[in-house]
Amino acid sequence: MIFPQGFLWGSATSSHQVEGNNKNNHWWAWEQEGGHIADGTVSGVACDQYNRYRDDILLMKELGQQCYRFSIEWSRIEPDNGKFDVKEVEHYRDVLSTLIDNDITPMVTLHHFTNPIWLQKMGSWENPEIIDLFERYTTHVAEQLGDLIPFWNTINEPMIVALIGYLIGIHPPHKRDLLTFAKVAINLLKSHGKSYHAIHKTVKGGKRPSVGIVKSLIAFESMDPNSKRDKLEAERMNQRFNWWFLNGISTGINGEPFGKNEEISFLKDSSDFIGVNYYTRNLIKDGTLSRTPGPLEKNDMGWEIYPEGLYNLLIKLKKYNKPVYITENGICTTQDERRSKFLLKHLEAIYRAIQQGIDIRGYLHWSFMDNFEWAEGFDKRFGLIEINYETLERKPRPSAHLYREIIQKNKITEEMQEKYL
Ligand code: BGC
Repeated sequence: MIFPQGFLWGSATSSHQVEGNNKNNHWWAWEQEGGHIADGTVSGVACDQYNRYRDDILLMKELGQQCYRFSIEWSRIEPDNGKFDVKEVEHYRDVLSTLIDNDITPMVTLHHFTNPIWLQKMGSWENPEIIDLFERYTTHVAEQLGDLIPFWNTINEPMIVALIGYLIGIHPPHKRDLLTFAKVAINLLKSHGKSYHAIHKTVKGGKRPSVGIVKSLIAFESMDPNSKRDKLEAERMNQRFNWWFLNGISTGINGEPFGKNEEISFLKDSSDFIGVNYYTRNLIKDGTLSRTPGPLEKNDMGWEIYPEGLYNLLIKLKKYNKPVYITENGICTTQDERRSKFLLKHLEAIYRAIQQGIDIRGYLHWSFMDNFEWAEGFDKRFGLIEINYETLERKPRPSAHLYREIIQKNKITEEMQEKYL
């Protein structure tokens, strides 16, 4: 299975999960309350990538990786409302330059789950003021660092932000309210649109940057393939969580059920590519999301492993007629052979979608290294690189070497399949 020439291979992380000492964001504050993180840890120094990024970048290079998706921490850049920190901008300038000097293409996420504390106090995503505040932060980053960023992600997984912060309430501010959830989803939609234009307005000269949303796609399916009601509900879930946001930024219309089909002037065609994060499927039973997982093999988060779901979802992206990057895909496991198998299986699904004419241009594995898995803590391991949290030593797992071979050859060989599948 040969991938298209120029296919971009790499891996991803986010600031709060790897940098350490992000004391100015609402996650840090929430962690300090105690009792929220499943394994009892707090992010603390995390992987200390804030200080060790040069070594990490050298390791990426050694492992053949061509692209690194990471996030800029809003709470570092703008620690107080309207006050921008010059030294933190310099820090990210150095991260970006180090990547570029090592021939690694940066893909920068502007928002990956965390908000500055001052913004959280204002109501963050519940407050429509966030739309202009996110635009102002975007413009600042674009002015200061735009010359070094070819790929931008505005917001990581907006529907997950809305869902797990405001509907099922397992992330801060742990609310459970349908109307708030809908309001938040719309504020995220508008924030993306304004941020998209702010980048293109600000970064002039040189190659036009590529700016996209990063959308989590979940395969919603009926547990019982013969249940009409559950199939219908699965379709509704697909509409709400997978397609509503993408339809909005493609057509410019804030559609139902969260909007009233009104047109938003700055929304239409506001994504140069679609970033896809894919992990699993969710099943519907008795008219609602099932609490009992399905029969497939699971990762250490209890999520079913379902590569076919990725294929099916990718095929559905055809109608948006945009390049696609897989911006996250990975497995939580301590048994690394399972990671290699997962990698091959999902790449196979991606390859098949490419054969069907979907313009997929890259794959970024989640994650470059083990990190702080939000409300689960450090216990959960997603990394191609193992972290020893006592010493912070980095140790590439065998899957990182398999990945290097795939990258070098730009293909999956029969030997790889025989060995791992
Ligand atoms: C998020 C990551 C997270 C991963 C695994 C994605 O939803 O973007 O931050 O670590 O899933 O749970």
